[in-house]
Amino acid sequence: MTSSSISVAIIGAGFAGIGAAIRLQDEGVTDFVIFERDCRVGGTWRDNTYPGAACDIPSRLYSYSFAPNPDWSHTYSGSTEILKYINGMVESSGIAPKIRFDHTVVGIAYDAVAGEWTVDLDGREPVRARTVIMASGPLSNASFPDIPGIDTYAGHKIHSARWDHDYDFGGKRVAVVGTGASGVQIVPELVKTAKSVKVFQRTPGWVLPRANSATSGRLKRLYRALPVTQNLMRSAWYWGHESVALGVVWDSPVTRVVEAISIANLRRQVKDPWLRRQLTPDFAAGCKRLLMSSDYYPALQADNCKLVTWPIARLSPNGIRTVEGIEHQFDCIVFATGFDVCKAATPFPVTGIDGRELAAEWSGGAYAYRSVVVSGYPNLYFTFGPNSGPGHSSALVYMEAQINYIVEAIGTLLRFGWKSLDVRPEVQDGYNADIQRRLRATTWNSGCQSWYLTDDGFNATMYPGFATQYVKQLKTVNLADYTITVAQTSGEPLATG
Ligand code: NAP
Repeated sequence: MTSSSISVAIIGAGFAGIGAAIRLQDEGVTDFVIFERDCRVGGTWRDNTYPGAACDIPSRLYSYSFAPNPDWSHTYSGSTEILKYINGMVESSGIAPKIRFDHTVVGIAYDAVAGEWTVDLDGREPVRARTVIMASGPLSNASFPDIPGIDTYAGHKIHSARWDHDYDFGGKRVAVVGTGASGVQIVPELVKTAKSVKVFQRTPGWVLPRANSATSGRLKRLYRALPVTQNLMRSAWYWGHESVALGVVWDSPVTRVVEAISIANLRRQVKDPWLRRQLTPDFAAGCKRLLMSSDYYPALQADNCKLVTWPIARLSPNGIRTVEGIEHQFDCIVFATGFDVCKAATPFPVTGIDGRELAAEWSGGAYAYRSVVVSGYPNLYFTFGPNSGPGHSSALVYMEAQINYIVEAIGTLLRFGWKSLDVRPEVQDGYNADIQRRLRATTWNSGCQSWYLTDDGFNATMYPGFATQYVKQLKTVNLADYTITVAQTSGEPLATG
């Protein structure tokens, strides 16, 4: 290794990158740098500032167990409060000086002789690092849909993940394309301000009511004075969500119960039979992400709102033309159409041993070992990697398990002064054969189209099990799973804290 190399390069200062940095520091690994392409931390919660942006997982569970927050204002917090939580972690942990803003990573390559990664940065000198943590997030690149004529539209275009806060919706005719998790949060807010809102739905989703209550001052004081009460509440949410897995992860009789609750909610909130029919899904609940909202259906029935279910044929300079030939004219089109998710690619070139390219290896669909490491790419770790997605629980529970595993692996490598840890290919293959076999029985593979699947239907995204199983498999690093290369040079100082 070269004297100028750092121990850990972390790519991305969102929830995962910040969490990894804090846990590394806790374990005494202080020689790390976080590369962030933006000028602020927060990742998806920095980017998603659309009106109504909130998390549909309870905040007590959508937070790190090592950074509890007694002050969550509501059961489900808004994006501003979540961003404040992330900023609070950065401040209290003192990791801010290690974040390099406006540093865009454009590629990483492994040098097997030195046992180091070269991190290439846009317009800057490359950096050498012994280990790399990919924390760039799956939902970081906003995606405008591939609709014919999209560039010909002359009005205002806004993507949900790049909100234009200077745009005044007052008196405007607005279209919302997309009715996923973002769309159902945006529509109720837009109907309050815009002159008219037309919602273009391609596929109706399963909507469950979301009861969001304010946390009283007394409860916050209790959480602060007796942290165990906060832990108990987190546990209650955790196990509640684990039980939901029975119907959301697997297509089972419990799935029918989830569907019945959703249909009852639809019947209660929507009286018009035709609108109800338009809003009734035709796939198993859970196959696409469940939508949590108590104000979406009422918003669709507001006087200034209309649901359009005719497929979009093209965009014209004035608006949206649907297949039956009608042109809907708009001042602004909001695209709540999701993200370019790297299911069969990498966000930038990743070159491993002997020049192998990860994007090429993943072209049929991404895979990894336990979602965090890939054979042939030593000392490289993924957060939110292949098959790490929860359908029923908090992404942060999964992320924390990944981080703990990664920190243990990196700590071990640095402590022993080893050159590399590379997961054995047969171990990885066995793991993935099992994951894909188990995925066959899940709702996600039950026949609908979603961002979880590649165009060929390969599921590179979700973990087919309970959160408890996912966390358990990442509890300890089993060194027998790895090929360990011991450094050629001896007597070098250990790089740990
Ligand atoms: P999404 O779930 O991918 O939904 C995209 C929507 O756009 C879908 O309704 C899709 O229709 C529609 N769409 C895409 N291309 C279209 C086209 N060419 N024409 C018409 N409609 C089109 O995206 P998202 O709502 O931004 O959510 C993405 C993910 O972000 C979620 O799954 C979730 O993981 C996360 N998220 C979480 C929260 C939270 O509260 N935790 C909130 C927001 C987002 P089809 O269904 O027919 O494909």
